[in-house]
Amino acid sequence: MNIYGLTKTDLEHVFEAIGEKKFKATQVYEWLYKKRVSSFDEMTNIKKDVIDYLKQNYNLNKLKILKKQEGIDVVKYLFELEDNNKIEAVLMKHDYGNSLCVSSQVGCNMGCSFCESGRLKKVRNLSADEIVLQILQVEEDLKLRITHVVMMGIGEPFDNYDNVIKFVKIINDPKGIELGSRHITISTCGIIPKIKEFMNLNLQVNLAISLHASNNELRSKLMNINKVYDINELISVIKEYINKTNRRVTFEYIMLDNVNDKESNALELSKLLKGINCYVNLIPYNETSHIEYKKSKKENIMKFYDILKKNNINVTIRKEFGSNVSAACGQLRSNYEEEK
Ligand code: SF4
Repeated sequence: MNIYGLTKTDLEHVFEAIGEKKFKATQVYEWLYKKRVSSFDEMTNIKKDVIDYLKQNYNLNKLKILKKQEGIDVVKYLFELEDNNKIEAVLMKHDYGNSLCVSSQVGCNMGCSFCESGRLKKVRNLSADEIVLQILQVEEDLKLRITHVVMMGIGEPFDNYDNVIKFVKIINDPKGIELGSRHITISTCGIIPKIKEFMNLNLQVNLAISLHASNNELRSKLMNINKVYDINELISVIKEYINKTNRRVTFEYIMLDNVNDKESNALELSKLLKGINCYVNLIPYNETSHIEYKKSKKENIMKFYDILKKNNINVTIRKEFGSNVSAACGQLRSNYEEEK
C-alpha cells in the first residue's frame, strides 16, 4: 500500500496496532511532507524495527511524469499511474499564488457535452495517494510550493467521495503539506446527496458548482446530471449549504458561443442567483478539435459580466490559461493517445 494514502489518524492506528506510541505518526508525517524523503531509511529518528515494518507493509512509489507542457503562467502534466492509466494536473500561476488543478478519477461518467475529459468514460476512481502525489510531484519538479488546490481536473470529485475527503484531510494536516482548508476547492457538477453529506462535515473547504446554464432545458442539454438533479433542486440545496456553513459558494459558468452566453441567459442567471451569497466565475471556453462548441466572443463575455454586475451578482472572469498548451482538462491525455 502507498503510504501517501494514509491520514495521520490512519497512521496513528497503524502504530497503536503494533504496540508503538501514536506520536510516531507525526514523526513519519514530517519526514514525508516536511522533509520530503524518498525512502524509509532516511527517517533517522525512527527505530529500525519500525522502519522494517513500514518497508514490509508500505511503499513510497511516485507517479510517472509522461509528458509536460509549459506555457505562460501554466504547466500541464500528464501522469502515468501504476496500472498504466493516465491522468492530468495543471499548475496555474496567479498573483495570489500557485494553484494546482488535480484529477480525481480516470475518465468521468458525468458526460458533460463540452468536456474533453468526459469523452473517456470512467475507468476507476483515484486513490487518495494518487491525488496527493500530483501535488508532491509538481512541487518537486518545479521546485515551488503550491498554495491552492482545485479539484477541477479529470473526474467528478463527489463520484469518488471517500477518497477525495481523505485526500483533503491528508493535505490539510498541519504536520503534512499543511494546505489551509480555505485554499482548497472542490468542484462538483451537482451530486446533491453528496453536497448534503459534505455540508455536514464542516470542513471549511470551498465548494464550487459547475452550473454552466441559466435554466433546466439548457442545463439538461449541456450536462446529463441535470436530468437527475435539476437546477432548482441544486439551487435550493446550495441555499441550505450556505445557511448551514456560512460559506460563500462559487458557480462556474463556461461561456459557449451562442449557446449559453446571450443577454437573456445573463438576466435569467441573475434572477436564479438573486440574494445568494455567491461568486459567479465566467470561464472562457477552451476549444478542442473533438467538440463543436466555440468560445464566446469577448464582447459577449463582457456584456454578460455587466448584466450580472448590474444585478448585484459578484462576478469574475477567469484568466485564460494556455490554450496553446491544451489546457482544458482531458486534452493532453487525448492528444497523447492520438500521437502514439
Ligand atoms: S465537466 Fe467535470 S463532471 Fe463534467 S464530464 Fe467533465 S470532468 Fe466530468
